[in-house]
Amino acid sequence: MLDKLLTLTRDPLLGVYVLRSKLSPVGLIDRLSRLTTAAGIAKPRFLLSFDCDTDLDIEVVEAVHAELGRRGVRPVYAVPGELLERGREVYGRIASTGAEFMNHGWAEHTRLDRATGIYDSFLFYDRQSRAWVAEDIRRGHQSVSEIAGRAPAGFRTPHFGSFQKHDELVFLHGELKKHGYRYSTSTVPFWGLRYGPVFDHLGIREVPVSGTFDRPLDILDTWTHRCLGEHGGEAGYTRQYESYRDYMTNNRPLLVNVYGDPSQVHDWPGFFDAVGLLAPWAVSSYAEALDGTA
Ligand SMILES: [Zn+2]
Repeated sequence: MLDKLLTLTRDPLLGVYVLRSKLSPVGLIDRLSRLTTAAGIAKPRFLLSFDCDTDLDIEVVEAVHAELGRRGVRPVYAVPGELLERGREVYGRIASTGAEFMNHGWAEHTRLDRATGIYDSFLFYDRQSRAWVAEDIRRGHQSVSEIAGRAPAGFRTPHFGSFQKHDELVFLHGELKKHGYRYSTSTVPFWGLRYGPVFDHLGIREVPVSGTFDRPLDILDTWTHRCLGEHGGEAGYTRQYESYRDYMTNNRPLLVNVYGDPSQVHDWPGFFDAVGLLAPWAVSSYAEALDGTA
């Protein structure tokens, strides 16, 4: 993982952060809190977003959306255009509840084998030509505008961890700027620890996804905890939310930007309980999450 991150970020300071996350993870959370204040966010905020990459998401997402709504959380959605078009009625109804849809590219990039539960990931932006990526963004923009009924305000690159090099992100942000986007949320937690929960030196505002409380460099996601059973599995997932809740209860500023997949949580009651712990600080759009930032 470290080697991969080094290649991706080419940041010589990564090693320092790896060491700090081992010696004092809460020290890094404190750093994030200071950077959150510096970015203009004075209070804790929690934002949940869902990547809906498979047909199973289409089947379960409305129930997931409704259950979260009962707990005071309205997620933001990232759905590839091809899947939006296949699930247009479902996603149209979710958009009509006011939910934000960001652009997640057009082409399908993950397939789920339901018999084995294995997710097959393909179509990585770093293996495509720049022209192909620009066209995928353009088509994704069209799909969201048509099916959600509103033009997207932001973007998430397919597959976290790919397309993270400086020149790739500068290219990406340049394309997003052409569409008038206000944000991208395409980067791994290291970027947040390095530059803050929102930063704009790549072009437009970038909002990295959050890490776990115990290991701030590792993405807090449903895939690692639920599907792989790593980092303490489901119980470990809940513990991260408890730690964030305890930290935020003291009103210390943080922007917790968590993502998951509906297909991985629809039959996991503990997920809804965990997310509910942060409901008092929930915001339901990136515009709200970034309110007050320069
Ligand atoms: Zn995706």
